[in-house]
Amino acid sequence: MKIKKISQKINQILYDEYFYFQCKGFCHCCDNKVLFYSYDSWLRDNFYCRKCFSIPRERALMYIIETKFPHWRSLNIHESSPENRGASTKLKNNCKHYISTQFYLNNELGKVVNGIRNENLEEQTFKNESFDIVVTQDVMEHVLNPDAAFKEIARTLKPGGAHIFTTPLVNKFKPSQKWAVLDESKKLKFLFEPEYHGNPINPEGSPVSMHWGYDIIDFIYNSCGLKTEIIYLDNLDFGIRAEYIEVLISSKI
Ligand SMILES: [Zn+2]
Repeated sequence: MKIKKISQKINQILYDEYFYFQCKGFCHCCDNKVLFYSYDSWLRDNFYCRKCFSIPRERALMYIIETKFPHWRSLNIHESSPENRGASTKLKNNCKHYISTQFYLNNELGKVVNGIRNENLEEQTFKNESFDIVVTQDVMEHVLNPDAAFKEIARTLKPGGAHIFTTPLVNKFKPSQKWAVLDESKKLKFLFEPEYHGNPINPEGSPVSMHWGYDIIDFIYNSCGLKTEIIYLDNLDFGIRAEYIEVLISSKI
């Protein structure tokens, strides 16, 4: 009883000190009426669904898949570098032909490593026209040769298919910038301030290789010929509100 009271007191202090915002709505990642809440003004990484702990960009991506490809459950979907929650979990649990891959450097491509198929987005072992949808969530800002990755994604898409993805367009109207490259000895070299994002399979995080702007559309077209639409959603009824949660759809005609 005493412990329970202490815990309630701590929760109250945290709430009083840090609570930022909450609202009720429908979560497209867990298909429930839920409470969305944030203990931080930076909603992008902190505006959680109380039921499935998804964040806004994941809910925005799932909403787009639901509306643009309502029959996604029966389609062939490839997700590179999935997350352990949100849209990845929903796709994995509900799509019969969903395959996820991770990239383990220095391991054979196309083989299973740590229970998941090892694929480098830049040189995939999948056959041409294998997938209806390719999903990447905050991956394209970490790829060292994004033109090769976009080209490979386009190659593996069936006609009528699409690459549906999120990547923070932090440069907005400014031109995209290469942020890191491999030097002559194949070592990572940052061109600006080193920057890393969290990575579910690597505690050291993933180095950021690109600062994308809205001109990513031209970059993709020049890389692989796919036309891309950028969709920015803002709908609190679905817990979708934050900076940099644009969903991009590159369609193969
Ligand atoms: Zn949810």
